[in-house]
Amino acid sequence: MKMEGNDREIFDLLKSEIDREEHSLILIASENYVDEDILEVQGCVLTNKYAEGYPAKRYYSGCKYLDEIESIAIERAKTLFKAEHANVQPHSGSSANMAVFYAALNVGDKILGMNIAHGGHLTHGARVSFSGKLYQAVGYPVSSKDEMLDYDEIRQIAIAEKPKIIVTGASAYPRTIDFKRFREIADEVGAYLLADIAHIAGLVATGYHPDPIEYAHFVTTTTHKTLRGPRGGLILCKKEWAKAIDSAVFPGIQGGPLMHVIAAKAVALGKAMTPDFKEYQGQIIKNARHLSDCMVKKGYRIVSGGTDNHLFLVDLSPKGITGKEAQDALEQSGIMVNKNLIPFDTKGPNVTSGIRVGTPAVTTRGMKEGEMEIIADLIDAVLQRPTDEALQAETRGRVRALCMKFPFYSRIYDV
Ligand code: PLP
Repeated sequence: MKMEGNDREIFDLLKSEIDREEHSLILIASENYVDEDILEVQGCVLTNKYAEGYPAKRYYSGCKYLDEIESIAIERAKTLFKAEHANVQPHSGSSANMAVFYAALNVGDKILGMNIAHGGHLTHGARVSFSGKLYQAVGYPVSSKDEMLDYDEIRQIAIAEKPKIIVTGASAYPRTIDFKRFREIADEVGAYLLADIAHIAGLVATGYHPDPIEYAHFVTTTTHKTLRGPRGGLILCKKEWAKAIDSAVFPGIQGGPLMHVIAAKAVALGKAMTPDFKEYQGQIIKNARHLSDCMVKKGYRIVSGGTDNHLFLVDLSPKGITGKEAQDALEQSGIMVNKNLIPFDTKGPNVTSGIRVGTPAVTTRGMKEGEMEIIADLIDAVLQRPTDEALQAETRGRVRALCMKFPFYSRIYDV
């Protein structure tokens, strides 16, 4: 990297991070590895340019090429998700959700989203988020019987609460979501439906998860999880909502769009239309299922008994360790997962009884079912002796050796 001699301090840290990503098993369900094209476009001169507004309606001169780039991103998003309208400007998944609320609700309106403790996202009504502060937020749980969504119960809550919008979608839900059923509930109570597919966007785009587009008034997503693009957000909606959504994003909640990120979104959306990407999404699911099955065979309890998508939750309470202890022990071993509340958790969010495990990143590296078996062995060994530092050091070596068989950034960087 050219900057080596120009800012040693940051260069050294960057190099360490590249080494960490290259030689760790990234099992954080919301993370992925972008390829060289996305890295290049995201780091390009478009970062220099102000382009407040939208294609052909900018507040700055010099936007000729940017207009074309943003138009391509919009068209690709519309094609990929079969949407009537797309806004590619949200800086993040959170700002995409904020813009939808801004467009569709008034401050103080009621929103009904999945409990954060049961898998929902902060922006679906958590007290600490704008969504819980500016709006009256109520939550729906998963069923205590099978830890899955109980649509009859959600319907009852919706009838009792009469929300203005229902939010479906999750950060930690391993099962298929029935968007049609959600729309029926929304229609029954006169609510809008927002489907937040941040986690499962890649699966939706390739047909591995049912598509919400015909049912939801609004669909939001991040572009950096299973979609494997740059860090950012995206909103899809029907034509009738196009104007309200566009003005909610700009000038409602954002200023100048990140045109380098929008260009990288366009590239990622283009890649998501290829047969390779579809095959990749299929393998993500196969890997998640296989890894989850391997953990079950080793005596772990998996929340809801398994997974339909790219992630699963392990309940560690029968093993007598917390999510935090597991996360720390695994991190010391070169295996990255995150502590996660499980439904009806008796512990707080900083400790938790569970971990969330996802396969998008390891699948990007080319790992398949055979590697999932090795990973399950490594995780199990560490979790059996979570304070054994010698074992952690040894595991770190084994993880490094496994990662070196699936080179990713070492093909372009000297790590
Ligand atoms: N929605 C869901 C379901 C998410 O899981 C996330 C992020 O984890 C977001 C929204 C927010 O995305 P961001 O972190 O880009 O704000």
